Amino acid sequence: MIDKNQFRGHEQLAYFHDKESGLKAFIAVHDTTLGPAAGGCRMWPYASEMDALNDALRLARGMSYKNAMAGLPLGGGKAVIIANSKTDKSEALFKAFGRCVESLDGKYITAEDVGMTTDDINIIASETKYVAGTPNGDHASGDPSPFTAKGIYNGIRAAVKHKLGKDDLAGLTVAVQGVGNVGINLCQFLHDDGVKLIVSDIIQDHLDAAVERFGATVVDPDEILTVKADVVSPCALGAVLNDETITHLNTSIIAGGANNQLANDSHGVRLMDKGILYAPDYVINSGGIINVSGEAAGNYDLGWVNRKIDNIYHTLLHIFERADAEERPTNVVADEMAEEIIEKAKEKKRTAA
Ligand code: NAD
Repeated sequence: MIDKNQFRGHEQLAYFHDKESGLKAFIAVHDTTLGPAAGGCRMWPYASEMDALNDALRLARGMSYKNAMAGLPLGGGKAVIIANSKTDKSEALFKAFGRCVESLDGKYITAEDVGMTTDDINIIASETKYVAGTPNGDHASGDPSPFTAKGIYNGIRAAVKHKLGKDDLAGLTVAVQGVGNVGINLCQFLHDDGVKLIVSDIIQDHLDAAVERFGATVVDPDEILTVKADVVSPCALGAVLNDETITHLNTSIIAGGANNQLANDSHGVRLMDKGILYAPDYVINSGGIINVSGEAAGNYDLGWVNRKIDNIYHTLLHIFERADAEERPTNVVADEMAEEIIEKAKEKKRTAA
């Protein structure tokens, strides 16, 4: 039934079923201490409602940690729609979902996630104001990928400073797995700094763009994680750091944008034991949510967004230093720091009450 490991301190879990449109969705609100629970809506053909529910709980908690570590006035939440994004989309379904979000009265703010597009978000926005990541409008924040990439670039600089003692990236080699929206923007930042790029992808056009624009060296998808490089940057899939891949890594830094890179938390220990510095994914890839949060606040300010994204450098250095001092994995230290931020805010509220 419900995976007890996923049900940790959640404030609310709502199930919605709209017969007319066929919508079946869960919205999980993990914690609203820091602000309204913000997190994207995922459309996925889950094998069962229980799988969807557990995913919503897990992802909502992840958003609390991500938003806390990014220093945002936002809590964590997530929505999942049980449907196939290739065959099941309809205007009626997204309108029904928009009404579900509206019914929570601002406790949850939705946005784009896997299986969703900005067109879908636009339909949802016709039924609720509690939505961000829209493509047009006064405070629209648009495509988050360049902002995510800028944060990852800052994170790579922090990791290189900490692990290799270098202040600049010129002459280093970075292997980027996946040159899609995030990866290609990251390559631009790295190329501008004189980094040698090794890339892989499963879409030829994406590889051609990386070769043409940056003179990148292409390797097979099977090889990208194990090539010799100063930094390996996973920017495609989750769970790429597992028993098999960690054994063959040939780098001292993993710093990339993909969500849920560790197959499970124990792989953080494996990386530490191998002397590999891991930049926790939800910290290094928070540039996108920082950008979206400007829109959620209703007063988008590019200067504020850029300052927050620059701060990812310092946040990661802090995590690396504490992890070294306590001889513990960076992923565990990041989770603890996020919990501390939330607990401190709770304490402040209790005292003020
Ligand atoms: P995307 O779909 O635009 O790009 C992913 C790329 O990875 C594609 O080019 C795809 O062909 C490639 N790919 C897929 N399987 C591969 C494989 N086995 N080997 C090599 N390449 C492969 O997605 P994106 O928006 O660039 O996001 C990339 C990752 O970053 C995802 O994990 C996403 O969840 C995460 N992320 C994205 C954002 C954002 O702002 N877009 C924010 C936070 C996290």
